[in-house]
Amino acid sequence: MDKLVKPRRNSPERTHASGRPAREDAEEAVRTLIRWAGDNPAREGLVGTPARVARAYEEWFAGNFEDPREYLKRTFEEVAGYDEIVLLRDIRFESHCEHHMAPIIGRAHIGYLPRDRVVGISKLVRLVEVYAKRLQVQEKMTAEIAKCLNSVLRPFGVGVIVEAAHECMTTRGVHKPDVTMVTSYMLGSFRTRAETRQEFLSAINLRGRSHAGPAEP
Ligand SMILES: [Zn+2]
Repeated sequence: MDKLVKPRRNSPERTHASGRPAREDAEEAVRTLIRWAGDNPAREGLVGTPARVARAYEEWFAGNFEDPREYLKRTFEEVAGYDEIVLLRDIRFESHCEHHMAPIIGRAHIGYLPRDRVVGISKLVRLVEVYAKRLQVQEKMTAEIAKCLNSVLRPFGVGVIVEAAHECMTTRGVHKPDVTMVTSYMLGSFRTRAETRQEFLSAINLRGRSHAGPAEP
């Protein structure tokens, strides 16, 4: 818990490092949860479940063991005079909310105005994935993506918008399946210049939205 009150930085050090439990301990914890749910972890269908859950966790939370800044650092390129917004939209991601450990499924849109260098678009996807594959709060994830891109690339501005459905809302609690949460984080010219921000928002909304976001006329 003490880690939550420290200032957040654009690095992944908030987790593991020391004290990561052994896989057997993780599997035993899953057995405990199965018993807590009222089932029997020794019955045939559940015998292999703790091992599968542990492997799934390795995938879902792989971002705890990766530094997103490394992906961005490796791929600087000259912009050759390009001075317009670079935008990558509809980056699908899967994450988990840190309050219920329930899935958050959504899309991220990233725009930036390069100063002297750009980054390969696959690196922007990796940037989203590294932050998504951790226990998250959507607002925090949105800010983390923007701040990381801003600190490594030093562009004139950065905009990040995240739209997502939270299964802790759709499958429990208030049970609202159609609710999508939208968060945004703007830095530099995306924050200070209305035209830049508008250009970014318009570009995201260029084509019809199947769900989430403003409806097309
Ligand atoms: Zn939740």
